[in-house]
Amino acid sequence: MTRAFVTGIGGQDGSYLAEQLIARGAEVHALVHAVDGAGPHCPPDVVLHDGDLADIEALRALLLVLAPDEIYNLAAISSVAQSWEQPDLAALVNGTAAVALLETAHQVQERSARPVRLVQASSAEMFGEPDRTPQDEDTRIRPLNPYGAAKAYAHLMVDVYRRRDLHACSLVLYNHESPRRPTRFVTRKITSTVAAIARGDTDALTLGNLDARRDWGWAPDYTDAMVRVARAELPGDYVVATGVGHTVREFVTAAFAHVGITDWEHLVTTDSRFVRPADASELVGDASKARRELGWTPTLTFADIVGRMVDADLA
Ligand code: GDP
Repeated sequence: MTRAFVTGIGGQDGSYLAEQLIARGAEVHALVHAVDGAGPHCPPDVVLHDGDLADIEALRALLLVLAPDEIYNLAAISSVAQSWEQPDLAALVNGTAAVALLETAHQVQERSARPVRLVQASSAEMFGEPDRTPQDEDTRIRPLNPYGAAKAYAHLMVDVYRRRDLHACSLVLYNHESPRRPTRFVTRKITSTVAAIARGDTDALTLGNLDARRDWGWAPDYTDAMVRVARAELPGDYVVATGVGHTVREFVTAAFAHVGITDWEHLVTTDSRFVRPADASELVGDASKARRELGWTPTLTFADIVGRMVDADLA
């Protein structure tokens, strides 16, 4: 039986990944941070271990005992804003701790004389303001904030460890959404508010920049890519994205259309509080390599993703 270890179990991706691993017969262990907990969607079969990714020695001791076959590093300081407030913490959690996990995976492999596979969740943020769209695995890494820079360090170290014969992979994940997305993200903010409007509970949706464009995918497809890359014969780095960008305005239009509202302009206001000083403008990913080498492909269209999220919020 495959033993998997997941960090970041409390998030959207951690819960979907754990479900998919269990469905494929794995024994899933996860690191839980006392403050965050395992989250509302963590499957009951997951074996939870209290700890902190930044407590490198304690985590190493745990992993040397568990000796997992697969390690998925999804834990991170996930907001760019927080990384500006605490750049050293972002460096520690998103950078150094990921590197410590690579080193630990290598040590487990040496001691057990069995291959250990590690998947690092990287982010399109490390491209900053990219000089080409769509971006792929060869796009220049040039982060614009502490979050992206720390993620870039971890991404580069995956390649360093791959050269030391670790099956280490970095997935450059573009935005991926689901009903489990917290409402601080624009997609879920829109779908939860549109559902509230449809129910008659509110009459206003307040947003920031409606022209911001993102490549939005379906979160379970992205965790499926993680399992595929861990189990591929050869390790590598992959962009995981739909290849299609949509504006916030298009997301709003689709969400209202799903509840039968076509004339939504009077229901939406913009507030400068939600407009970001610096916003990545054209993040759209080219996942051709993942399609070719992993057989990965997005399963839902943009309209389906919006529809499923609105339906979940209506239920
Ligand atoms: P991010 O790409 O990880 O930052 O994900 P978000 O869902 O937080 O933001 C996606 C895009 O939506 C960004 O370009 C935001 O500037 C834009 N946006 C527009 N209005 C809002 C809003 O009210 N809240 C959030 N979170 N983002 C907004």
